Amino acid sequence: MKPVEHIGLIDGYVDEPTVLGVPPYMSIYPRYISGAVWSVSPHTQIHYQAIDQVRVSFANAQTFWSKMDLLILIAGMIVPGKYIGGTPISVREARSLFSAPSLEDIPKILVGPWAKFGCGLEGGKIALSSDTLAPPFDYIIKGDPEIVLARSLASSTSFEDADLNYTRTSAREIEPYTTKGAHIVPQFPGFSIGHIICEIETYRGCPRYLTGGCSFCVEPSYGIPQQRTVESIVSEIEELYRLGVRAFRLGHQADLFTYGSSEIGEVEFPTPDAAAIEHLFSGIRMVAPDLGVLHIDNVNPGTIAQHPEESKQVAKVIIRYHTPGDVAAFGVESTDPEVIRRNNLKADVDEVLSAIRLLNEIGGMRNPWGLPHLLPGINLLYGLPGESTRTIEHNMDFLTQVLNEGLLIRRINVRQVIGLEGTSLGTNSGTRIKRNQFFRHKEEIRTTIDLEMIRKVAPPGTVLTSVFLEDEEGNHYLLRQLGTYPLLCHMPKTDGLIPNDVFVVDHGPRSLTVLPYPFIPQEASLSQWKAISGIGAKRATRIKSIASPKNLDDIQQVLDMELPEWLSRTFHFEN
Ligand code: SF4
Repeated sequence: MKPVEHIGLIDGYVDEPTVLGVPPYMSIYPRYISGAVWSVSPHTQIHYQAIDQVRVSFANAQTFWSKMDLLILIAGMIVPGKYIGGTPISVREARSLFSAPSLEDIPKILVGPWAKFGCGLEGGKIALSSDTLAPPFDYIIKGDPEIVLARSLASSTSFEDADLNYTRTSAREIEPYTTKGAHIVPQFPGFSIGHIICEIETYRGCPRYLTGGCSFCVEPSYGIPQQRTVESIVSEIEELYRLGVRAFRLGHQADLFTYGSSEIGEVEFPTPDAAAIEHLFSGIRMVAPDLGVLHIDNVNPGTIAQHPEESKQVAKVIIRYHTPGDVAAFGVESTDPEVIRRNNLKADVDEVLSAIRLLNEIGGMRNPWGLPHLLPGINLLYGLPGESTRTIEHNMDFLTQVLNEGLLIRRINVRQVIGLEGTSLGTNSGTRIKRNQFFRHKEEIRTTIDLEMIRKVAPPGTVLTSVFLEDEEGNHYLLRQLGTYPLLCHMPKTDGLIPNDVFVVDHGPRSLTVLPYPFIPQEASLSQWKAISGIGAKRATRIKSIASPKNLDDIQQVLDMELPEWLSRTFHFEN
């Protein structure tokens, strides 16, 4: 094989059950691949580009790639989602981008979920075989790309002769690469402004592989879960932190609550081990004392329901070390008993409710004017075998009960399944609700459940710290915090700078209206006053008619209502 001095590593973004890699998230793939390359070929230059950077000019990107010795595309959206931070590469885009005549002689490799499980297009559709991208790709690595690449580069074996299906047998195999690979992060587009959150792997595979796992999910296909050691996870975070990363999500595992459990691999619902979680989180805090974000992701509600006492201990440990505004994503998928039975789902409705209650009891507390510490998020999935219109009724009854009990859920994801290779669902189709029924139901959740819920989770006056500008929409900025499942914030545009902190003044079904915190009445625009719930256009105009309000009384005098405490406490009058 020709020496590989320059590699073009293009990140088309990934979203799979246990890995997210859409900005500001950087997935494990670019980091592990870079570490693998540098482990065997330290002088190889890796040129990382996110697909949104490539889109600025396809022609420029292709000219640049034509000087590379190897091109690697990381891609695969196999969990349908909507993203604000970036737009994942499409199959058509990948085909056209990498088919340029100038790239003909350069080996092109496809890695990531598309290569492993097929090209997911959108929810409700069957994934295309990854072979659909060969050509333009010469090699499709269905195994673990970091290991396949390291082996080929180390032995100068041509990719023709490499075992492209090689999958690691233990987490130890990736450890030489994780800290070395951290050195790719400065090339991530948001790195220089701190707009990066690194997804961290704690284990791969699902303990429920013993019973086959959920019908639609790829995790059981990894077999016995492979846990990383605390020491290796902490070392990786230490290196990322040393390089400047301040936000981390322990997102790469089927169920964070079972990390470190000695029963993983032996039983379907391992008993959580709070001491193991404490060892992990305290180790992270030790090497990253000033981190800005430490969040988690997937938690199996079945684990909590079956091991409530141990789960309480784990939740308490997480709250001691993490940063608030955290979410334990519960893959509920369905509360319809028939769908649960036919798809071997992890928990029935009573178990899910008991898990939600427990997490509310421990995680519902909040710092003054802050978001709750750790709330459940709910995933509902449609298009599974056994589904019928009764499924909609079951799920609405469940959500209504949650609301009526006063329980908090941080967010509800409503999706349609993608049929993937390697799952027991595969290309099977069961009874399905119609597409328009699905969208009507989704809308019903948005209007009847989400709006009420977000008002409780982030009531007026709640302060969100360290927000970033994600986008602009008409006369609004779209802001979000760095962290897990960040709430989307609309803020009326002003001439001023984007604030660091904001506070909530109104709600939409899945978003907040916010203003800069602290709020300086002398500088506030008419549109900002109008955005405050309960103020309205007339009162806003009256407030703006005051030449220069010096204190709360000046504002109160022109109003026919008492300013609420949540609002007046945010005022900061400039002298
Ligand atoms: S519990 Fe089900 S959805 Fe969750 S990782 Fe295991 S198989 Fe996948």
